[in-house]
Order: sequence, then structure tokens, then C-alpha cells
Amino acid sequence: MDCIFCKIIKGEIPSQKLYEDDKMLIFKDISPKAKIHLLAVPKSHYGFLEQMSSQDQADIGYILSKIAALKDELGLNDGYRLTINQGESAGQTVFHLHIHIMGGQSLGWPDFTQ
Ligand code: 5GP
Ligand code: ZN
Repeated sequence: MDCIFCKIIKGEIPSQKLYEDDKMLIFKDISPKAKIHLLAVPKSHYGFLEQMSSQDQADIGYILSKIAALKDELGLNDGYRLTINQGESAGQTVFHLHIHIMGGQSLGWPDFTQ
């Protein structure tokens, strides 16, 4: 499958991996938009929340609790933001579901109406 995140998961494309287990991977975003900008991805390939199987739904809960458990280790003890872009208007460019993890600094709240 021609999916960049599946290739990262398989190790066919190099990445800076910070955590990995049988369900998920956390790696550094190649083009960071915050001092810390990581991506948490399920190993299961799907692009949109509405495509999740019941196992995928359970895995998302698992991924969120794993992020919380790892927050100090990841340098996120002062707070962090999680973002899931869904669709091109939202800025999604990779159609393998992923959770942006941003932190390491004070994060403003953008006014998207401007
Ligand atoms: P999206 O725009 O789909 O929500 O987020 C995709 C993210 O993946 C972007 O922040 C982009 O910088 C990151 N990205 C795209 N290609 C690669 C890659 O090959 N390696 C890594 N580490 N990140 C990537
Ligand atoms: Zn994929």
C-alpha cells in the first residue's frame, strides 16, 4: 500500500521513533510546528474516524492513555495539545489516521476566522 505512515511503521522509511508497541507508534513530525511535535499513529491503516472497526476504536482509547502515561518521558509535563485533522479542509495531508501531539511551549489558541 502506498501509505507513507505504513512505510514508517514497517521501517521502509526512516523516522525518529520515540515509542512503539504492537498497536501504535510515536515518532517525530518531520516538519515540526511546535517545539515538540510528535505523531501518534495506530498500526492499523485507515484515514477517517468513521472507518474505524471496533478494534480500532479500542486502540484509539489505548493510544490516548499511552500518550498520557508517557507525557513526562516525552517532555510534555507542562501540557500538550492533541489534534486529529480530518479531511483536506482541516489540513489533512496523510490519509492514515494520526494524532498530532504538540507541546514543549505555551500554545496559543488560533483564531481560525482571521
Ligand atoms: P496532516 O496534515 O495529515 O494532519 O499531518 C501529516 C503530518 O505528517 C504533517 O505534520 C507532516 O509534517 C508529517 N509528515 C509527512 N511526511 C512525513 C514523513 O515522511 N516523516 C515524518 N516523520 N513526518 C511526516
Ligand atoms: Zn497507512
